[in-house]
Amino acid sequence: MSDFKEQFEQKLDNLLQSRKEKRAQWIAQLLKIEKEGPKTSDDYNMKKRFEILRVGDDDRLIRKRKGLLTEFKFIVCFEEVHQAISVAHSAVGHGGEKKTFKEGQKKWANLTMQCCQMFISFCIECQRRKNVEYIKVWW
Ligand SMILES: [Zn+2]
Repeated sequence: MSDFKEQFEQKLDNLLQSRKEKRAQWIAQLLKIEKEGPKTSDDYNMKKRFEILRVGDDDRLIRKRKGLLTEFKFIVCFEEVHQAISVAHSAVGHGGEKKTFKEGQKKWANLTMQCCQMFISFCIECQRRKNVEYIKVWW
């Protein structure tokens, strides 16, 4: 199981390297906007699209809410992708990537189909099920 997580994160690391850096940049930019107000058109753009939600000492990037009471979606960060997809994937009973993706999107704003696909390709339970189907067909 931990092997699975490790392998997945290694692949994910390659896939998300650029986005990871972006996220840190965005948070820094948003914090600056919060303090000093938006200055450039890029700042205004950011302010429209994202906001920061403080969870304890943690600054979390979330998609901009329409009102304070509206449900919000988290921007999933690297360390959480495995867990996020795992929960969604279990919730749909080891369904395919489309189902998993749809479920995951309820909570996470930036989950990608590609990540779900990759996760499922590593899922031991799914592989086991595939094999069972294969045996059923042939025996
Ligand atoms: Zn599965």
